[in-house]
Amino acid sequence: MSEGSQPKVEANIVVLGAEKVGKSALTVRFLTRRFIGEYGDIESIYTHNVRVGGRDVCFSIWDSICPQASKFQAWVSEKQLRWADGFILVYSICDRSSFHQARQQLQHLRQVKRRGSTEKVPIILVGNKRDLQHQRVVSSEEGRLLALSTDTGFFEISAAETYHGALVVFHELLDMVRDSRSTGRKGVGLRGIVRSMSAVFGRRRTE
Ligand code: GDP
Ligand code: MG
Repeated sequence: MSEGSQPKVEANIVVLGAEKVGKSALTVRFLTRRFIGEYGDIESIYTHNVRVGGRDVCFSIWDSICPQASKFQAWVSEKQLRWADGFILVYSICDRSSFHQARQQLQHLRQVKRRGSTEKVPIILVGNKRDLQHQRVVSSEEGRLLALSTDTGFFEISAAETYHGALVVFHELLDMVRDSRSTGRKGVGLRGIVRSMSAVFGRRRTE
């Protein structure tokens, strides 16, 4: 409990996506504010305690790897589905196959029903490596439209260049998780609609 007696908010986040798109770079950026460059292929769950908007928040972040990616492109484990309050689904704007994989994973996540929940699980789609404009093969519009069609948040960021993008992604997902907990009983909230509109008109870009 914090001094102000507000209970701590806990959020379990799974970071998914194809190999080498920057899942670890995004996670480590958020945790440490730094970009190291090489991360290895390690699967880890990190906990990160921060204050957000005057509330104590404990993020648990599962930086995943994609086992047998070629066979199970839409792979997300039962365990991850049960554990997660929200997902960050990363692709690289320089890698069309990673975008294709993100689309499959999104569709899969939207199909599976989470046990004990009628709410859609909060997801943010992230187009990473925005600094590599000259290698871009996936347009911002494609990302935005995919997000809109799957009721998903959307950002383009560069984990290499800025901390801000990573911060906004995790904070936005936290908002979505808290919304889904509080509006679970009340149906679709206005914020969800505004968020979808913003995804179309591009008002939620971070840089
Ligand atoms: P993961 O396999 O999805 O966890 O990907 P990593 O985080 O290990 O990153 C894969 C490679 O992409 C590494 O060489 C990173 O340095 C690089 N990388 C990650 N994010 C960015 C980015 O925003 N811009 C650029 N230029 N490179 C990045
Ligand atoms: Mg990794």
